[in-house]
Amino acid sequence: MREGFALILSAPSGTGKTTTCKVLLERLPNLKIAVSHTTRSIREGEKDGTDYLFTSTEKFEEKIKNNDFLEWAKVHTSYYGTSLKSIETPKKKGNDILIELDVQGVESLRKMKYEGIYILILPPSITEMEARLRKRGTNSEESIKQRIETGKQEIKQYKMYDYVITNDVIEDTVNSILSILYAEKVKSAYYRPSSPDIEALFNDEVD
Ligand code: 5GP
Repeated sequence: MREGFALILSAPSGTGKTTTCKVLLERLPNLKIAVSHTTRSIREGEKDGTDYLFTSTEKFEEKIKNNDFLEWAKVHTSYYGTSLKSIETPKKKGNDILIELDVQGVESLRKMKYEGIYILILPPSITEMEARLRKRGTNSEESIKQRIETGKQEIKQYKMYDYVITNDVIEDTVNSILSILYAEKVKSAYYRPSSPDIEALFNDEVD
């Protein structure tokens, strides 16, 4: 069986990443999300084990020491990390895996030449990003300002990604991601013969 693809998605806070991921997961039954570990506090409406695996700083640092993470980073004032197990197990079973990362995480994966489809989702404008963050109402003024600054720095790193999508209308963004995934999957490099007679052609066994 062919291993699944890793879809690596970044988006500054207030860009609509959570909704985009939710719709993608509904549309693609074969897609599984890698649930990250974080030390930040749980927000209203979030579920431990679904949105994140919420953990203490001590336990997170222990996992760093044990090399349990594919990558980890300090974002804003909290730790975030993707455990190796959460990715490799479903990928080996043939599931595509959705990995949400900030730019630091992407930088680490690029350095280790981690194979995947790297997508950055951008807000239509900084003004719109700020408006969405305020509308969410779950962050303090200080945290909103910090998220906007972090967001601006992240946007400047767009060249690290294979694809950049502006999230104006969620439906369009999701369709763009589906098209990208489809195009990657039908690349000749990943082609697996669908029948023995086609395979034989490739092996030069047919006249
Ligand atoms: P939030 O606190 O708004 O859920 O996420 C803050 C930032 O942390 C986002 O940019 C998000 O993509 C990033 N993030 C979430 N999980 C991980 C992870 O496992 N590793 C890294 N490097 N960043 C993550």
